[in-house]
Amino acid sequence: MKKVLILEDEENIRSFVVINLQRAGYEAIEAANGQQALDCLREHPDVGVAILDIMLPDMDGFEVCRRIRATSKKIGIIMLTARTQEMDKITGLMTGADDYVTKPFSPAELTARIDALYRRIGGESGIASDFLTKGPFIMNLRNHTLEKSGVQIKLTQVEYAIMKLFMQNPGKSLSREDIMASVWGRDFEGELKIVDVNIRRLRIKIEDDTTNPKYITTVWGHGYKWGA
Ligand code: CA
Repeated sequence: MKKVLILEDEENIRSFVVINLQRAGYEAIEAANGQQALDCLREHPDVGVAILDIMLPDMDGFEVCRRIRATSKKIGIIMLTARTQEMDKITGLMTGADDYVTKPFSPAELTARIDALYRRIGGESGIASDFLTKGPFIMNLRNHTLEKSGVQIKLTQVEYAIMKLFMQNPGKSLSREDIMASVWGRDFEGELKIVDVNIRRLRIKIEDDTTNPKYITTVWGHGYKWGA
């Protein structure tokens, strides 16, 4: 079932939203303050859309939005604003929100926005496609995170893109040109050496023994291959 997080400190508004989400076929996860919302998202990484109230007891909804966006680019975020001030809308969009709904709102309006956002972020494709699993590694494509044997490995954007390319092409020998075109884009005019430099750094992070790599192996005279 598609999961939606609702962050709202006023209990009657929250239950009103929950009932309407359930009626529309969503599973509703509830949070009454910012910290709870962030904890809920860690527990439920498959939440597709988060609805965030702005006025909250512990931190404002913009701050929650900013923190969610720092770890997830893919989740859809809708701000609930009590005011119609342009400033709120602008601040919301600046901190990474995708949409906003002004209180008071009709349930039909809110679910229509959620449906639209779900379609846009590709939430229909289901949960299974959000994870890539190879050997001890689990890549969360929604949060852009990588775990090895349950321990999170911090990657740069480039390292993440290289890792994803390998995990999507297991056993296939990839030339340095292939890797460069896929990760940096076809128009990138840098030197191929940048591929080697990043792979060396990536190996330090993911291999058990960098002198004898077993996950990213070298294909002499060609490039690299995922061998896990
Ligand atoms: Ca509130």
